[in-house]
Amino acid sequence: MSAEIISGTAMRAEILDELKQEVAAMQEKHGKTPGLVTILVGENPASVSYVTLKVKTALGLGFHEIQDNQPESISEQALLELIEKYNQDDDIHGILVQLPLPDHIDEKKVLNAISPDKDVDGFHPVNLGRMVIGGDEIRYLPCTPAGIQEMITRSGTETAGAEVVVVGRSNIVGKPIAVMMGQKGPGANSTVTMVHTRTKDLDEHCRRADILIVAAGVPGLVKPEWIKPGATVIDVGVNRVGVSEKTGRAILSGDVDFEAASKVAGKITPVPGGVGPMTITMLMKNTVKSAWFHLENKQNDAA
Ligand code: NAP
Repeated sequence: MSAEIISGTAMRAEILDELKQEVAAMQEKHGKTPGLVTILVGENPASVSYVTLKVKTALGLGFHEIQDNQPESISEQALLELIEKYNQDDDIHGILVQLPLPDHIDEKKVLNAISPDKDVDGFHPVNLGRMVIGGDEIRYLPCTPAGIQEMITRSGTETAGAEVVVVGRSNIVGKPIAVMMGQKGPGANSTVTMVHTRTKDLDEHCRRADILIVAAGVPGLVKPEWIKPGATVIDVGVNRVGVSEKTGRAILSGDVDFEAASKVAGKITPVPGGVGPMTITMLMKNTVKSAWFHLENKQNDAA
């Protein structure tokens, strides 16, 4: 048996095409496109490359994009004032602060200062609360879990009644995706188990999973014999396991032994090229959603 590969790269292209059409429709209807500001503090090379990719993707979709670079020395107060300026700017629908921030700045304070209505990363406690309530309350889902759910549904995996096992309980991946898959509604309605380092018989839990989502950050943690034949396996892990002699670039590997797991699973995501490309894509999707929300609400106000 050889698993079907769920390609995040291919899905990204498909979703970005859909978003381009939405942006064109928005331009036609409102004469505006989604506005996204990316705030980068300092020059951390990894942060610079993440922000560059986000900006490039946003520009490719025709967004009104502002890259606001600030020096490492910016004070917490000045950063909070900058965020408030964008909170009040009607042409900006999404505010993104690239993490990590320098030590003298309280990250939590900064993230909480972003208006929940412009929090396209979906990290604000208000949006996490809305996510837990579910249904019509949901505004912006956190991007990596939203990408995971999109991959599961777009790959044609049945989620209703499925046994979902999530390995990991972080605030950015494990916990939110466990809540989302257990919600009432399409792409969910699953029976969810969340496992972690204190779980007894981790392998036994994994073996029950119709959908196995692994976000532990441990290369090769999940062995092929832990996978139920035919299961859908979503490998969120991104681990640097070496450096390529040829390119000098990091060699990346997931939390699942991909080669061996592909012989057992029904569907599986690769690393790289799996969940990774979906995260920025969902950020763009949230920004388009926010723009519609702001533009249509404003129109209703004027009516
Ligand atoms: P994290 O905050 O370090 O959390 C890891 C979780 O996995 C913890 O809950 C931990 O359990 C659990 N865990 C670790 N080792 C385990 C083991 N041996 N057995 C069972 N559970 C174990 O990590 P994260 O931020 O969620 O990220 C997880 C992985 O996903 C990383 O490789 C990260 O790079 C990747 N990631 C990828 C994307 C993307 O592709 N876009 C986005 C985010 C993260 P305890 O709570 O008990 O410690």
